[in-house]
Amino acid sequence: MTSILANSDKCIRCGLCLTQCPVIFTTARESFPGPKTIAGDLPRPSHEFTVNEDIIFYCTICGACAEICPADIPVDLITREIRRALIETGRIAVTLRDALESAFKHGNPWGGIRSKRSEWAEGLGVKDISKGENAELLYFVGCTPSYDTRVQEVARSLVKIFKAAELDFGILGNEERCCGEPVNWIGEEGLFEELAEKNIELFNKHGIKKIVTTSPHCYMTFKEDYPSIAEKLGMEFEIGVKHYTQLLSELLQQGRLTFSKKVDALVTYQDPCSLGRRSKVFDEPRDVLRAIPGLELAEMERTREESYCCGGGGGRIFLETEVLERLSIERVKEAARLKPDVLVTACPFCLLKFDDAVKVAGKDIEVKDVAELAAEALG
Ligand code: SF4
Ligand code: SF4
Repeated sequence: MTSILANSDKCIRCGLCLTQCPVIFTTARESFPGPKTIAGDLPRPSHEFTVNEDIIFYCTICGACAEICPADIPVDLITREIRRALIETGRIAVTLRDALESAFKHGNPWGGIRSKRSEWAEGLGVKDISKGENAELLYFVGCTPSYDTRVQEVARSLVKIFKAAELDFGILGNEERCCGEPVNWIGEEGLFEELAEKNIELFNKHGIKKIVTTSPHCYMTFKEDYPSIAEKLGMEFEIGVKHYTQLLSELLQQGRLTFSKKVDALVTYQDPCSLGRRSKVFDEPRDVLRAIPGLELAEMERTREESYCCGGGGGRIFLETEVLERLSIERVKEAARLKPDVLVTACPFCLLKFDDAVKVAGKDIEVKDVAELAAEALG
């Protein structure tokens, strides 16, 4: 812990991060300490923080502060250290505690029943690797696309696309469990490592060598966090991981996937923080959208590295307060200035946040995932 928090000494109090933070933008300054305070001005040691426990969970881990910080201060990692210290002392919002408990008991943070995890795939003829079927590629569905009825549409769209491209793929059925991303960023380090260990064991048991994910949060976690956990635990993790937009972009380039049906729509694309700013995947989702005949892509003012967070990351999707809804509403209003038919994204959390926000903001805009538009274009 000390080494991460030692970064605080590098803060030159320039305040540049305050100009980028979406929570500062939508929340009263006195309600959120802000990246500058998190990075440099928060009282130490960790157990004597004066911040209210909910407030430190307002940070979405969007990475916008770290992107602009001239001192390269990893505010996201500092935030996580503070959360870890708070959790150790039992100071955590009830909804977050429920999400952690569910991840521990049921292998997903949504309270979903384990035996129903793969119900969304019934009748689709998808191979179930957990039942002994072999496949070259593991489609790691993720918790939200498995259990949320809206996001299940994205998983079904991906199955349709993978089949059209004749991929040899399968799922882990009811054996799939949370990658641990929200658990990790909420700050429950022990549970995150436990989930990662069980997942690595499962991947190795089934000889998984390639994974494609629905969610950029799973993608980022497998890519960034699992190798070091595997090393720490003396386990093997030799797996190539892709977000589905990367895979679709490749398939299009290779001519293994073509879109034959027109989708006449003006769309604008939300770079999910975990896919864009944090994983540097900016072009591939746009490649997929531009390959769809009839579709026109318009860019919002704040885009790519400067994209504005939907408010669902860092475990915040499980924190219920009115303050937190303001981020997605602010972004929907920005999108609405382009008068698009569709606000499109490539992340389950963005999809859920924007679905709600268009209703609250009273905007007549459809919210879709890149995968849904791509599946429509298959005909
Ligand atoms: S990571 Fe994002 S939400 Fe969190 S403090 Fe930095 S800019 Fe604000
Ligand atoms: S941008 Fe970096 S150096 Fe400047 S106040 Fe924020 S955390 Fe400190």
